[in-house]
Amino acid sequence: MKISLAKKLSLAFLLTAFISIVIASLISNYMIDKKFDSYLINEHKLTENKVSTMINSLYDEKTGFSENGKDEISRYSSAEELYIEIKASNGSILFTSNNLKPQMHSMMGAMMHNSTASQYTEDTYSLEKHNKKAGTIILGYYSSSYFSSAAEGFITTLNHSFLLAIFIALIFSVIISIFFSRQISSPLINITETANKIRTGNLNAKCSVKSKTKELAYLSESINYLGATLKKQELIRKRLTSDMAHELRTPLTNLKSHIEALLDKIWQPTDEVFMSFYEEIERLIKLVKGLNDIAKLEEVNITLNKTTFDLSLELKKIAAFFEPVYKNSGLILKLDIPSRITAFLDRDKLKQVMYNLLSNARKYSKNNGEVLLKLYLAEKEIIIEVKDNGIGISEADLPFIFERLYRSDESRSRNTGGAGIGLTITKNIVEAHGGNIEAKSKLGEGSLFVIRLPK
Ligand code: ADP
Repeated sequence: MKISLAKKLSLAFLLTAFISIVIASLISNYMIDKKFDSYLINEHKLTENKVSTMINSLYDEKTGFSENGKDEISRYSSAEELYIEIKASNGSILFTSNNLKPQMHSMMGAMMHNSTASQYTEDTYSLEKHNKKAGTIILGYYSSSYFSSAAEGFITTLNHSFLLAIFIALIFSVIISIFFSRQISSPLINITETANKIRTGNLNAKCSVKSKTKELAYLSESINYLGATLKKQELIRKRLTSDMAHELRTPLTNLKSHIEALLDKIWQPTDEVFMSFYEEIERLIKLVKGLNDIAKLEEVNITLNKTTFDLSLELKKIAAFFEPVYKNSGLILKLDIPSRITAFLDRDKLKQVMYNLLSNARKYSKNNGEVLLKLYLAEKEIIIEVKDNGIGISEADLPFIFERLYRSDESRSRNTGGAGIGLTITKNIVEAHGGNIEAKSKLGEGSLFVIRLPK
């Protein structure tokens, strides 16, 4: 049987509260019990001292105790439950609360009297006047019965207080445990519901959790991120399928119609006709190669062969290679590269990155366009920029251009022959170097690609 998290948390909370209170009660009960008897004995000794001091103050060496004095001593005797006997030095009895003894007996009851716990004890104090001993004061009491009844009363009160405390604490525990377990379980329920919605294909589902619990907030963020990523992947997958269909259909339809024309003898099998077949097949091969590259990209982690070299020089060399190609396309390639900036990178992979960026800049430029290749150093980074004033990328396409096989409609309609994997490879290489690549662009105005590499 599975129990809900809320129930489990509440139970655990309640159990912890209950066990803590019971342990605390037992320990305090035991300790108080232990200390209480000695406390009572001390209290009793103080009372006896007080009574004997009072008796001494009432005593007169010539007249003994006045009637008023005796009354007062009697009052004390009954108030403090003491048997009081006062003897002079010659043995004559000056005062006795004799009548109190049987009274105390009846008070304690027969059970108490017979019990071994109930012991009669007498303490002796001296009767003094002006520091001269004039007799003895005997103070008698039923010790253990006296103590235990008081202690019992105290312990009972204490136990009642503990029971009341347990009851109140449990009520609070119930309220707090319900509150806290709800705080934890309701976001989890929300997250689970969202995950289930995503599982059944509703990729727009989002967690609406506003928990202050760190882990829950992270979990909900992760689920939302997962949903967003799946949505993006879904979009890419759809786009990829339609792209592939589109890219394959054109050369295949061309080939088919050309072969039909040959069969119908509309066309003669000239070199030109075969050349057009060749070109279409070439396009197909390129496409398939693109797919193959993507597959490789998926399975191999890029291994880098890093060396230290003059990056300024390397970029200038690459630019020199591109210059004639740019010229042929009616474009200008401008450089802003300071000398002698060295870097520790994989030189071949860097070349691949620059080839991708510079050929994209060329492919997606307008006539008489301008491309700027810039290199500079920041505090901890080497920055390479490729900026063009070409066709640009729409806001809708910009987040996807680094995804495999993604091509914007604008660039596809230009029939540039790209397969949409150049930027994916570029990004992988830059990230393998511990750097990052970012694109900024405006449709119709141009694009800027910024590569940041650690120094
Ligand atoms: P492709 O082979 O299609 O050029 P890439 O991965 O290199 O593939 O680029 C992906 C897409 O990004 C391109 O199809 C194009 O839509 C867009 N893109 C890349 N670079 C530029 C650029 N400099 N200007 C405009 N669009 C660009």
